[in-house]
Amino acid sequence: MDKKQISEIINELGEENFSYDPVSVPIYQTSSFLFGSFDELKRAVSSEKDAYLYTRGNNPTCEVVEKKIAALENGEKAKLFASGVAAISASVMSLLKTGDHVVCVRDCYSWSYKLFSRYLSRFGIEVTFIDGVNITDWKNSIRSNTKLFYLESPTTFTFFLQDLTAVSNLAKENKIKTIIDNTWATPIFQNPLQFGIDLVVHSCSKYIGGHSDVVAGVVVGNTKEIEHIFNTELLNIGGILRSFNRLALLRGIRTLSVLM
Ligand SMILES: *Cc1c(COP(=O)(O)O)cnc(C)c1O
Repeated sequence: MDKKQISEIINELGEENFSYDPVSVPIYQTSSFLFGSFDELKRAVSSEKDAYLYTRGNNPTCEVVEKKIAALENGEKAKLFASGVAAISASVMSLLKTGDHVVCVRDCYSWSYKLFSRYLSRFGIEVTFIDGVNITDWKNSIRSNTKLFYLESPTTFTFFLQDLTAVSNLAKENKIKTIIDNTWATPIFQNPLQFGIDLVVHSCSKYIGGHSDVVAGVVVGNTKEIEHIFNTELLNIGGILRSFNRLALLRGIRTLSVLM
């Protein structure tokens, strides 16, 4: 992506539809939204993903940030969460059930490691940790019940890399989903969806927020995958970002490419 495209995304995209043409994106500090008729309300309730109904689901301020991060990652849709860990756990849990097996990079962020090694083991989900550098290790770790490859490239502190194309091709051949934590590279330096990865997660508390004043997370993917997460983990577990933090995040994103 060239600098002009990045600048348009960061400074303009998603900001055109607010009434009164505000220069700064307004905070929509509201729990609920009103409807002109009962039929409109019924429609919104039956498909909350397409409506502004209640702020645990969609909110206009949130959507501006989601559109920008989705575009920076070359993805169709994004969903913000209260933290990177909230985005990671919601994305992971939306794809797994009891009896499934996961292959995960060993040097992933510590709380991602604990999600797999401690938390999900309570629900009968098994995990194999590998350093992830050689594709043969991924291949040899596949079992009949493997449902997810979890990547982080570069990995936390050790900066091991994975071959995103090779891992995503291997996953597709075996009907395995792929999630990558792209926090370290940021969307400025790496767009994993282009290499066939299914879902990209970020801790926005780091480079995307950029100013150490917000804890937030995001997941990006195609519309079907993100709507699935919206309808399952987001609405049920409800780890949404607070309204002031959406604005802090938006302000941070304005200078992301300069920072990187
Ligand atoms: C910080 C971090 C997380 C966790 O994000 P929080 O916003 O702190 O919940 C996940 N992955 C990586 C690589 C991180 O650096």
